[in-house]
Amino acid sequence: MSGPLLKVENLTKHYPTAAGLLKKTVPVIRAVEDVSFTIEAGQTLCIVGESGCGKSTIARLLMRLVDPTAGRVLIDGTDIAGLKKHELRAWRRRMQMVFQDPFSSLNPRLTAGQIITEPVENFERLTRKQREALAADLLRKVGMSPEMMHRLPSEMSGGQRQRLGIARALALEPAVIIADEAVSALDVSVQAQILNLLMDLQQQMGIAFIFISHDLSVVEHIGDRVAVMYLGRIVELSPCEALFAKPVHPYTEALIAAAPVPDPTRARLQAPLEGEVPSPIDPPRGCAFHPRCPLAVERCSVDVPPLVPMADGRLVACHVRAPATGEPAQLALLPESLPAVG
Ligand code: SF4
Repeated sequence: MSGPLLKVENLTKHYPTAAGLLKKTVPVIRAVEDVSFTIEAGQTLCIVGESGCGKSTIARLLMRLVDPTAGRVLIDGTDIAGLKKHELRAWRRRMQMVFQDPFSSLNPRLTAGQIITEPVENFERLTRKQREALAADLLRKVGMSPEMMHRLPSEMSGGQRQRLGIARALALEPAVIIADEAVSALDVSVQAQILNLLMDLQQQMGIAFIFISHDLSVVEHIGDRVAVMYLGRIVELSPCEALFAKPVHPYTEALIAAAPVPDPTRARLQAPLEGEVPSPIDPPRGCAFHPRCPLAVERCSVDVPPLVPMADGRLVACHVRAPATGEPAQLALLPESLPAVG
């Protein structure tokens, strides 16, 4: 097999608004616009941005829970849009999700053992012995005692329920797990345990993670690469370390500046993020960030900036910080004042 495990090409999702049903031109919610990225086995790509930036819509598009308006999702080179119902079912084994709220995503009437083995039993019949062996194995994998297989989700702590959700996602031996705000409902100490568990499982099993989060401290802990989204578009796609050491897009810079700094010895960036995210129904022309951007120039309210490669390999969409010249933009040419974190 050659090529990336998962390839997303120009993915776009527009939802018609109810208000436009009787009109000639239907206004649309531009949830995702022209998003492209790849991910290899064993890698973690984090997708970050404020609420409403389109990150959860990307998860739904990748799982084919909704169909794209344009663009393609290829897994192992196969375009999932072209799959028939029975092929899609088989393909879903390759991609699993872990949700933010394990309590509402787990059937409260089933025991942990039944919850874990249910996805496998959708594909094959298991004897009672096989079922118990599988449940015990997966519970051990997520650091829980096999005895827990007889418990109901309501008899577990939040951290245990999230481990159970992960065990369920692992049952079909997926190639990719999409974790949508998977630790944001947990206490900080439990968050760290779950993140470490995910990283251990990734090392052992070579799973690729797409980790959707609004929490930059989580992203910094777990990410290999980070895609920063603003109003449906990726504005910066960068190796994680480089992004936190030297954010280039003004929005990334402001997001990092706005994040709580757990270590008081670490420097804080200057520019705070002001104003609300504009509506995706009628986004600002040109660069959608321009009404909030301290660096905006005239062109920013006219042309959408393309994602341009920088000399260090990251991609940035900004007329000022990454002007499209045909040559990779030089980080060294950025203003000296570009503040660094840490
Ligand atoms: Fe700011 Fe203009 Fe860059 Fe957008 S393109 S981030 S408005 S400087």
